[in-house]
Amino acid sequence: MKPIKKFMLTEQEMPIQWYNIVADMPNKPLPPLHPGTKQPLKPEDLYPLFAQELAKQEFATERYIEIPDEVQDLYKIWRSTPLVRAYALEKALDTPAKIYFKNEGTSPAGSHKPNTAIAQAYYNYKQGIKRITTETGGGQWGTALSFACQHFGLDLKVFMVKVSYNQKPYRKLMMNTWGSDVIPSPSNLTEAGRKILREYPDSAGSLGIAISEAVELAAQDPLTNYSLGSVLNHVLLHQTIIGEEALLQMEKAGDEPDIVIGCFGGGSNFAGISFPFIRRNLKEGKHTRVIAVEPQSCPKLTRGQFQYDFGDTVGLTPLLPMYTLGHDFQPASIHAGGLRYHGAGVIVSQLLKDKLMEAVAIPQLETFEAGILFAKTEGIIPAPESTHAIAQAIREAKIAKAEGKAKTILFNLSGHGMIDLYAYEQYLGGNLQNFELSDQEIAQSLDKLEKIM
Ligand SMILES: *Cc1c(COP(=O)(O)O)cnc(C)c1O
Repeated sequence: MKPIKKFMLTEQEMPIQWYNIVADMPNKPLPPLHPGTKQPLKPEDLYPLFAQELAKQEFATERYIEIPDEVQDLYKIWRSTPLVRAYALEKALDTPAKIYFKNEGTSPAGSHKPNTAIAQAYYNYKQGIKRITTETGGGQWGTALSFACQHFGLDLKVFMVKVSYNQKPYRKLMMNTWGSDVIPSPSNLTEAGRKILREYPDSAGSLGIAISEAVELAAQDPLTNYSLGSVLNHVLLHQTIIGEEALLQMEKAGDEPDIVIGCFGGGSNFAGISFPFIRRNLKEGKHTRVIAVEPQSCPKLTRGQFQYDFGDTVGLTPLLPMYTLGHDFQPASIHAGGLRYHGAGVIVSQLLKDKLMEAVAIPQLETFEAGILFAKTEGIIPAPESTHAIAQAIREAKIAKAEGKAKTILFNLSGHGMIDLYAYEQYLGGNLQNFELSDQEIAQSLDKLEKIM
């Protein structure tokens, strides 16, 4: 019998619930704090910016949350995503390990982000909201939300960091094709943008500024809400569709992963692939290792501090109890733009603190080497973010070989890299480098934080 390469689910087999890991955590996450009063936040505090259902999910404690029918129907455009056995990669590594990956690059936007974009657009539409604002750095979140908003007839304004706006015309054009309005940030549309432009007319923008602009517009109009693509609990919740599918698909493959790996920016795709497997560790006595992979140049999980910190650079968001490098930490401009974030989701931070997961940091050149080997063997050119997960899978496969042990490795391929070919051009031209951070640089940024615990 020929070996099976790809494991899919039929529409009848698709999961119909998201998994809320908070229900099973031995230590619950600490509450987010209001930035002004420093009092624990309540769902109502989020209503001016977020759909009420999303604000409730942010604080939810029940184990499972039904996926609305309309969201399930839209997921069917590309879900289930394939679970693939990477035979060619295994062969190239001459490893006894079995390597599987879950391919989230098959979505219309090319990454895992539509899993939450669709859910967020849906709940806003149901509540009668007419317009959404958001920010985007590299453009992956902006494209995913554009795809989702046009489906529900919501107008979307995307504040895109100016330097990316100029460097990534194809991401902008994807957003325009789906009908959204893309504005280079800082812009003249908001007080926050005008203030920056007065002081720095040539500002290249930053994610922090773009967030401030998007939030300012949403706060002014009751029919406009704001939307975020990572970090928050409700975003991680929606992404668990990835791991719920993967559990069923691994069953079909007749295997169980010993190791589950995801790259880590704010934590959403990592949470998506891993939380259902952590549930089995917590409730069924399994011992699957779960590993988050961050860039060496932005090592909040491996070298940051567990502290209350702002989610944005400017200091407008609630204070979140998380692993952070400090909210004005400026990561080097690596090509894995989606991993250049100073903090981490609250749930993931607590899990790491409680040693229910592991974290590693990998230098940029190793990740691109891994990405190229993956492209040559499995045929898919991965997003620069996803190459971090591939690099760790390769490290584990090499350890398996050295130890002469068969292990089963599962990683999440969070997206394809077809719109990131500029990064590959830079790598192939020998123009990329690693960025080492000194302890002193990290301490400088952390010392500025107000210590709340
Ligand atoms: C946004 C993005 C990431 C990082 O975000 P997480 O919330 O940590 O998942 C990783 N990979 C891709 C392809 C992305 O678009």
